[in-house]
Amino acid sequence: MTQEDIFKKLIAHCKEYGFVFPSSEIYDGLAAVYDYGQNGAELKNNIKRYWWEAMTLLNDNVAGIDSAIFMHPTTWKASGHVDAFNDPLIDNRDSKKRYRADVLIEELLAKFDEKIEKEVEKAAKRFGSAFDEKLFRETNPRILENREKRGILHARFAKALNDSNLNELKQIIVDYEVVCPISGTKNWTDVRQFNLMFATEIGSTADGAMKIYLRPETAQGIFVNFLNVQKTSRMKVPFGIAQIGKAFRNEIVARQFIFRMREFEQMEMQFFVRPGEEMKWFEHWKQFRLKWHKALGLGDHKYRFHDHDKLAHYANAATDIEFEMPFGFKEVEGIHSRTDFDLSSHEKYSGKNIKYFDPELNESYVPYVIETSIGVDRTFLSIMAASYDEQQLEGGDSRVVLHLPAVLAPVKAAVLPLIKKDGLPEKAREVMNLLKFDFKTVYDEKDSIGKRYRRQDAVGTPFCITIDHETLENESVTIRFRDTMQQERVKIADLYKIIEKEVSMKNLLKKLI
Ligand code: ATP
Repeated sequence: MTQEDIFKKLIAHCKEYGFVFPSSEIYDGLAAVYDYGQNGAELKNNIKRYWWEAMTLLNDNVAGIDSAIFMHPTTWKASGHVDAFNDPLIDNRDSKKRYRADVLIEELLAKFDEKIEKEVEKAAKRFGSAFDEKLFRETNPRILENREKRGILHARFAKALNDSNLNELKQIIVDYEVVCPISGTKNWTDVRQFNLMFATEIGSTADGAMKIYLRPETAQGIFVNFLNVQKTSRMKVPFGIAQIGKAFRNEIVARQFIFRMREFEQMEMQFFVRPGEEMKWFEHWKQFRLKWHKALGLGDHKYRFHDHDKLAHYANAATDIEFEMPFGFKEVEGIHSRTDFDLSSHEKYSGKNIKYFDPELNESYVPYVIETSIGVDRTFLSIMAASYDEQQLEGGDSRVVLHLPAVLAPVKAAVLPLIKKDGLPEKAREVMNLLKFDFKTVYDEKDSIGKRYRRQDAVGTPFCITIDHETLENESVTIRFRDTMQQERVKIADLYKIIEKEVSMKNLLKKLI
């Protein structure tokens, strides 16, 4: 099965099992907008809780806020979004499809990487245990040739981006003979800039309505509250402000499911530091954030850092944490050193003093900022993609199982009476009532026990608890473990401890310190 097929199956699975639905589906949906169903909402909430607690509990110098989506329109002048929050777009005249010019070129770069990796894979197979990968990478002529070609393209691309040279972006697409995957032709328009912000109006026209924007990032709500939080919490630099919330971008290309949405959710933290100390903190947060991802246990090799080719106008360092999605390594989180750009700019546009008085240095300054910005939806997708598994079982049977990190699973335990009579349903309800205050628990009595196990596997429930006649005699149940399918007879009184050990947020958070 190709990666593309697996991705399609994952999307279908998300819909079938109540994780993600297309928005307003009865009206045929709305491009790049999605709703989270009963299981999706639980998983999403658990991801957010993990982030919130990792940032605000483990770091006592990070405070969380919740600012409004609507902001004064000057905010977006000051932040640079009105003038510069653009993507370069290009259309194919034959298919009438629209693309991001920079993404088309990134895909070209990825092709060189793929060629190199294929050579390595082939050679590893050929030479077996005698294979010296490092030496091969350094000396194989085809690898060297592809690396050189990639380097030339990369340098040209980075320069075009940094110069905002749209003609050059188009020229690269022409020179490298990029074809539209739909029409198969090279009939491209010129590259144009497209602003990604959604505008709307606030107030009635009689009042003199004002044009405002749906926020394209949550960060600005933090910057404008910098002094409010600093003064009311009396925190000293270095400190951070975190928040989780919706953001909106009129993305040019609406593909890849919840990877690129027009309405999505971000978890952002701005960490305010003394000017000159930003690189130290940049490194600190890079490592902390990578640890956060890896602690989920989806596989360390699925993550990598990717430094930016083009630094935003405000940044002096930037890197992405990329995750290996079914469609390649893609950004899930950005870590940026934003200098004093945002606060200084708000100072200028608002005319208010936004300086911090540093009691140790006995001087006032505009702090520098390290930002960590992660998408809830992309994290959700990375977890689902890494957890989805189609297994062939002994005896010709098969199952689809989600190996979700137990602490994030939408349902922690399913309580299943073996049959629907003899007092077993009542006993099952009793067990459920015992657990439901601590864990999201469901009750299911329909169909054979095997079918019920499969249903729970498909949504990633780590524990199934079966109530049978023996339960009535000696207060014991069978507990079945999702990943191994092993079953054990345990006392009802021990259930809390067994489940808690696996699903505890505390145990996960402890891995971060
Ligand atoms: P990209 O280059 O993929 O458009 P970006 O660099 O513009 O992303 P940032 O502005 O750094 O993204 O936003 C921070 C995070 O917010 C991203 O790492 C991503 O997880 C999330 N994010 C950004 N845009 C979207 C979107 N359209 N849909 C879902 N998540 C998004």
